[in-house]
Amino acid sequence: MDPGQADRVRDTLRAHGIREGVHDPLMTLGADLRERSRRTRKERAAMVSARTGRRLGKVLGGDSSRVDIAEHIAALVPDHPYVQMHTHPASPSAAFSERDAFNVVGVPGIEAMVVVGADDAWYFLSRLAAFAVPGTEREQQARLRRVHEDFWNEIDRRKPVYDALVGGGVLDGGEASHRLTHEVWQSIAEGLNLRYDRVDAPKGT
Ligand SMILES: [Zn+2]
Repeated sequence: MDPGQADRVRDTLRAHGIREGVHDPLMTLGADLRERSRRTRKERAAMVSARTGRRLGKVLGGDSSRVDIAEHIAALVPDHPYVQMHTHPASPSAAFSERDAFNVVGVPGIEAMVVVGADDAWYFLSRLAAFAVPGTEREQQARLRRVHEDFWNEIDRRKPVYDALVGGGVLDGGEASHRLTHEVWQSIAEGLNLRYDRVDAPKGT
């Protein structure tokens, strides 16, 4: 990783409340997962202890647009904080999916999620201090519904502009989805008591 980008990734991990000792393990793992994804064009996922930086279980593989992390979720140690990390190998890359957000909001052990895009942009999603883990099943359902509504309302609101840019040959589909999902997360994260950041890929990659 380019030194300037590495500094920005560290600053962003810090801003998401991830302790210093876990930064190096996450950065090494992110580079490794991205390399494996580039070769196979399939998503890769790992679960990492936010206390020790150690991985829980093995790296899981998925298809080009999703990876099932149920095996990791089932193995979480109760009351232990984790960072979920995975790749988005589709071109060029895009921020968090709705399913990704459901895991940050709905799985108490997952305190932060880091996505590494095909182009080496890094994405971060974590819970703000204002986020309290919902006590009842009903509260939990309401929160997931809110993620669903905010996410899709914002996509619907912003998509026509990008459809026009793609239709006019200004952007390709991948670049449009990259920009669209980034804007959507910038716009909705705080209202969901989440923090969202992107660290761009180094120029020229
Ligand atoms: Zn994802």
